[in-house]
Amino acid sequence: MAARILDGRAMAARWRDWVKAQVEAFRARTGQVPGLATVLIGDHPASQTYVRAKQSACAAAGIRTFSHCLPADVDRGTVLELVEALARNPEVHGILVQLPLPPHLDEEEILSAIPLEKDVDGFHPLNIGRLGLKGKDPYFIPCTPLGILAMLQEVGIPITGRRAVILGRSRIVGLPMALLLLRFDATVTICHSRTPDLGSVTRQADLLIAAAGRPGLVRGEMIQPGAVVIDVGINRVVDPQAPQGYRLVGDVVFEEAAAVASAITPVPGGVGPMTVAMLLVNTLKAAQRQVEGFASPWLEPFLSKTSGEADRLQPNAPKA
Ligand code: NDP
Repeated sequence: MAARILDGRAMAARWRDWVKAQVEAFRARTGQVPGLATVLIGDHPASQTYVRAKQSACAAAGIRTFSHCLPADVDRGTVLELVEALARNPEVHGILVQLPLPPHLDEEEILSAIPLEKDVDGFHPLNIGRLGLKGKDPYFIPCTPLGILAMLQEVGIPITGRRAVILGRSRIVGLPMALLLLRFDATVTICHSRTPDLGSVTRQADLLIAAAGRPGLVRGEMIQPGAVVIDVGINRVVDPQAPQGYRLVGDVVFEEAAAVASAITPVPGGVGPMTVAMLLVNTLKAAQRQVEGFASPWLEPFLSKTSGEADRLQPNAPKA
């Protein structure tokens, strides 16, 4: 079997075009533009790259960015003051504090200082909590899980009643992904570094999401034939042939998995571009809510994007 390759770059390009058109319409209605503040602490090269990519995607979509870089040894008071000033600034509709933070800063304290309505990363403890509670809607869904959901929806991969296995339980990917799939009535298993015999669990998955940050973790024999494999991992591996001396790979051994799975995301060019696209969606949504008092349901971006295909966007019918 040759798996279908889910092209995250092409899907993300469509989302970015959609956001750009929505930003234009927002500006025409309100005379304002959505604004995103980025807070980067320290000089971690990967974090710098991610923040730059997010800023340039914002610029291309017509979203204004406010860039703040603080030294690695900044004290907590200065960070909190900055976040509180951004919280008060009416031109800033979304606040993104790039993780990881230097170890002397308390991630919980700083993320909790972001007002819920500006928490476009969706990492505030209350947003995560609401994601997991039946009958409650979060203000925002973290961008990577949201991007994965959008990919699955776009190609019509069913979720309801399916067995989903997620490798990783982080605040950024694994945990919110599990909570989001639960909302869609998947049967969810979360694995982590203490899970024994990973293969015996992953082989039960109809939908396998690898977000462990371990290159080569998922081999072909760990995948159920016909499963859908979403590779979130972004890992640098040494490659003397590559211009920079390294290349990026996921957590999944791509060639082995592609021979067994029915669909798979590549790395790079899979989940990564969708993560950035969903940040734009969340920022647009933040601006609409704050300026226009527009309280949309949490799946609104999907409903708006694919009007006429709303049936796909609802939880799927249970497996027969
Ligand atoms: P973290 O390091 O925060 O979390 C990794 C998780 O994987 C932990 O829960 C850990 O378990 C688990 N884990 C580690 N080793 C194993 C193993 N051998 N078997 C099963 N589980 C394991 O990473 P993030 O969640 O932030 O990121 C994960 C990966 O996704 C990274 O490669 C990152 O670069 C990438 N990423 C990609 C994004 C994208 O847009 N494509 C966005 C964000 C991240 P435990 O809790 O026990 O330690």
